[in-house]
This record gives sequence, structure tokens and C-alpha cells, in this order.
Amino acid sequence: MNNPAARDHRRVPVPLLDLQAQYGSLEKEVMAEIKEVIDSQRFIMGPKVTALEESIAAYCQCEFGIGVSSGTDALLIALMALEIGPGDEVITTPYTFFATGGCIARVGARPIFCDIDPVSYNISPTGISSWIESNTDEENGRLVNRSTGGTVKALMPVHLFGQTADMGPILELAQRYDLRVIEDAAQAIGAEYTDGSRAGSMGDIGCFSFFPSKNLGAFGDGGMCTTKDADIAERLRVLRAHGSKPKYYHALIGGNFRLDALQAAILSVKLKYLDRWTEGRQKNATYYDAALSEIPGVLTTPSRTTGQRHIYNQYVMRVRDRDGLREHLSAANIGNEVYYPVPLHMQQCFSSLGYQPEDCPESARAARETIAIPIYPELDDDQKSSVVTALADYCS
Ligand SMILES: *Cc1c(COP(=O)(O)O)cnc(C)c1O
Repeated sequence: MNNPAARDHRRVPVPLLDLQAQYGSLEKEVMAEIKEVIDSQRFIMGPKVTALEESIAAYCQCEFGIGVSSGTDALLIALMALEIGPGDEVITTPYTFFATGGCIARVGARPIFCDIDPVSYNISPTGISSWIESNTDEENGRLVNRSTGGTVKALMPVHLFGQTADMGPILELAQRYDLRVIEDAAQAIGAEYTDGSRAGSMGDIGCFSFFPSKNLGAFGDGGMCTTKDADIAERLRVLRAHGSKPKYYHALIGGNFRLDALQAAILSVKLKYLDRWTEGRQKNATYYDAALSEIPGVLTTPSRTTGQRHIYNQYVMRVRDRDGLREHLSAANIGNEVYYPVPLHMQQCFSSLGYQPEDCPESARAARETIAIPIYPELDDDQKSSVVTALADYCS
């Protein structure tokens, strides 16, 4: 290029996420679907929900999809379907959205927090195995926590920020100790582990969220459970509608965990574009990776594990003076967020579990040092270069 000025970009404000940009291109198609549902006056279950369940199951390499009211309810109903309750314990990560640990406690079970791998931010399989080795005994086929007397029943890995947890060794542990596996795949629809398996297809149940800020977002709340097991699928379906089967006969106590037909119709439209959006997010991540690698020393860009498909629900960097960078970016009108400032083992509501910050030091450190920047697929060149310029200013 002989005119360097032509490459200069304007500095523009950049929101963390801009859902208007996506809606603009979908309005006609989505409104037609919404009208169809409204014209039918069929709002609860029905063909739109079934169609979405089938296409999400196929997208996630599963036989069955069960639409539910949110990602949180997907986790809750998964625990209920596997009969996890009082006296049971579930191993999970403390570095996640609250719902992961909250649902374990809500069914009356005890969350056991095992620390993360500091590079991927996902739960560390060696952390799980060393916790099991030093804290449990195998008694009559049960894995008993020596200090509480509770039975360890399940593992709940989270595929954080759009990249799957290290599922190979996690599934080996599950097999060795006869544990169930519930995948919190709320941030990872379409993500692939190194063997090509998609998030939500590797454990007993996969749990997805259609919260608007997820890669596949509804116009409100929604979620989905996926499974390859016909019996589990049937239990999930029954539990979703108050445990009723046939109608008004209750062998199980369930709840109202249904996905709205309107949301299902909207999501079916959006699912067609999901791979294109994922590619956009990956391209943005590649752009940031390259641009930020030229800024010396201060920022650690997110790792992309070789051979995995990372869907970049978030682009999360690590920086020593995170709060200083936050202030700088906000002053420059660059959207940013901290996922998450307080790890679950340090949340007040879990204080009775008796954790100290140093019990999961990498989670505590990640909570102090991480920051997310805009990664949504509709970012234009001016916006991306504005983000990088603001980061370069901070680092200089
Ligand atoms: C978003 C999210 C949830 C909860 O999903 P909702 O649909 O908001 O209830 C659970 N776990 C993780 C990791 C999430 O990111």
C-alpha cells in the first residue's frame, strides 16, 4: 500500500456485545417465524420445540435434545434426572458462572470445588484425581468423602469461554470411579474436543443455555439438555413437565422447565447462522492474537488448545493490573467485563462449605487477573483496531 493513511482506522466506541447488529440481518426471517407461532396460538411445546430439539441434538452429535426454560434449569433437571440429592457430592470448578455450583446445592447435594488449569481456565483433571485420592475411600462400590461421609456421585466440568474441558482424562476418572458426568456446555455450543466430539456429547447429559449473550441466544431465557441415552432423555422429558406421565399422574416430582415455542422458533432461525457466526468470532480472535502478540509483555492472550474447536463465547486475557486495565478500557469506551470476579469457593453463600481462598489458588488468581474484550462476529475493522489501539495505549 503506498498510502499508509488509508490503513489508519478511526477510533470508535465498541460495546462488549451488540445484539442489534445481528438482529438487523435476521429481522424478516425471525418475524415470520414469530408470526407463525402467534397465528397458531400454540405456545407450549408443539412442533417448533420438537424441531429445535432435533436440530440441536444433531448439531451436538447427540440422539436426544430436551428443550428447557434456561441453562440453569438444564443443569438442575440434569441433576434431578440422575437422582443426585442430599448426601451426594458433585465435583466441579469454582471458576464459572454461579449456576453451576448453585444447582448442585439446590438439589441438596454438596459441591466439591477442584481448581482450574491456569492456561485453559477449565477444571484440571489432575486436580480432580488428586482430590479423590487424598479425600475419599471406596466402600461397597461407593466413593465416600472421608470428612463428610457423603457419596461422590458425579463430575460437572464446565466448557468455559467456548473451549471444552480436558474431557479425555475426565471421562477416564468417571469410568474408574463410576461417576456420572454432566457437562455445563452453556458457553460452548459447537465446541469440539481434540477427538472431534462436540460439547454436550461426551458425558451423560450436556446442558446448554440460550441466554441472549450466548453464541446461540434467544429473545429471552431458554436452554437444552442433550443426551445419547434414551432412558435419561425420557426422565428429562417427564421431569420438565412436573414429572407427569400420563398427564396428572406423577411418579416423579418435576417442575415447569419447558422451553417456549416462541423461543424455539426464533432459535431455529438463528441456528442456521451459528457456524458462520462462530467463524467470525474465530477470525476476530486470530486478529487479536496476532495484533496483541506485538504488544510486549503485559497481556496474556487466551490459549487455543491445538486440535480443538474453540467457539469463543468470550475472548479472555490475563493481566496483572486487571482493574487498572478495566478503568483504561472503560474510559476509552471499549466494552469489557470480568468473568468472574469471585470464584464459587469464595462466595458468601458457600461459606458453610469451609473453603479458604488458597484451596483453589489458580481460580482465585484468575478472578483477579482476567478480563474479556469484545469478540462478537459483527465487529468491523474500525472497532477491532480501536480495541487493539486502546490496549496498546495501556501497555505503552
Ligand atoms: C450462562 C451460563 C449458565 C446459565 O444459563 P442461563 O440460561 O443464564 O440460566 C450456566 N453455566 C454457565 C457456565 C453459563 O455461562
